[in-house]
Amino acid sequence: MRVGMGTDVHRLEPGVPMWVAGMHFPDEPAGLAGHSDGDVAAHAACDALLSAAGLGDLGSNFGTSDPQWAGASGVAFLRETARRVREAGFRVANVSVQVIGNRPRLAARRPEGERILTDALGAPVSLGATTTDGLGLTGRGEGVAATAVALVVAAGA
Ligand code: MG
Repeated sequence: MRVGMGTDVHRLEPGVPMWVAGMHFPDEPAGLAGHSDGDVAAHAACDALLSAAGLGDLGSNFGTSDPQWAGASGVAFLRETARRVREAGFRVANVSVQVIGNRPRLAARRPEGERILTDALGAPVSLGATTTDGLGLTGRGEGVAATAVALVVAAGA
C-alpha cells in the first residue's frame, strides 16, 4: 500500500464559472481562475493519486504548456490520472478530499460531488469542506484551496 497527498489553490475571479468537485455552481458571482477549469478538489485528488503511485505530480503529468489540457475539466484530469495510476500497476483503494474556502457552499451538494468524483476515478472518493474562520487567503475570499489523500495498492498485493 502507498499513500499520497495533494494540495491545490486557485484564485477567485469575478465572472469566471465556478467548478468544484466536478459540479458547476451557476449562482456564484466568481469562479476559480486557471489554465483549466480551476477545480481544486479534482486537482488535489489527482496530485494525491499521482504521488501515491510514484508518478510525479499534476504539473509533470499535465503541463500547462501542453495545449491538449488547456481548459480541460477537473473530471477529465481525474479520469486520465486514474488510467495512468492503473497502468502503473496500482488499484485505488480510496481518496479523501477536503475543500477549504468560504464559497461555494458545498454541504447541500456534497453527495453529488462524491458521486461525480467517484465515477471519474472508479474508486470511492469522499468529499468534505471547511472554512478558516476568516483567516488567510481562503478566509479573505481571495481563493479556494483543497487538500487530498489517496491510498493505492500494488496490483496483486
Ligand atoms: Mg489546480
